Amino acid sequence: MKIKPKEPSIPQEKHETIRQEIIFVLTERTLSAREISAEAGISEKEVVDHLGHIRIAVRKSRERLKIIPAECKKCGFRFKKRERLNKPGKCPICRSQQIQEPLFSIS
Ligand SMILES: [Zn+2]
Repeated sequence: MKIKPKEPSIPQEKHETIRQEIIFVLTERTLSAREISAEAGISEKEVVDHLGHIRIAVRKSRERLKIIPAECKKCGFRFKKRERLNKPGKCPICRSQQIQEPLFSIS
């Protein structure tokens, strides 16, 4: 019989709390990663990381992380097929760097 390795004993509480907070905020409002980072007091990069986990976690409660794709402000190109949650650097069509950030909500 195999013994399951125990989870490392790094305190996860803070992470869990922030995740719960992000989930709560996103059930009420639609926000970009930058706005979430301001709400939760963590970096945008951390927000994107949490969102990746949240996307999977909310499925258990039959909820869904809704992503409004990033959009080029110049030519209107929408980054629909993008799997990554962070903001794209530039538009593949017109190479503009004026990108409307993706927005997130939970429904
Ligand atoms: Zn463009």
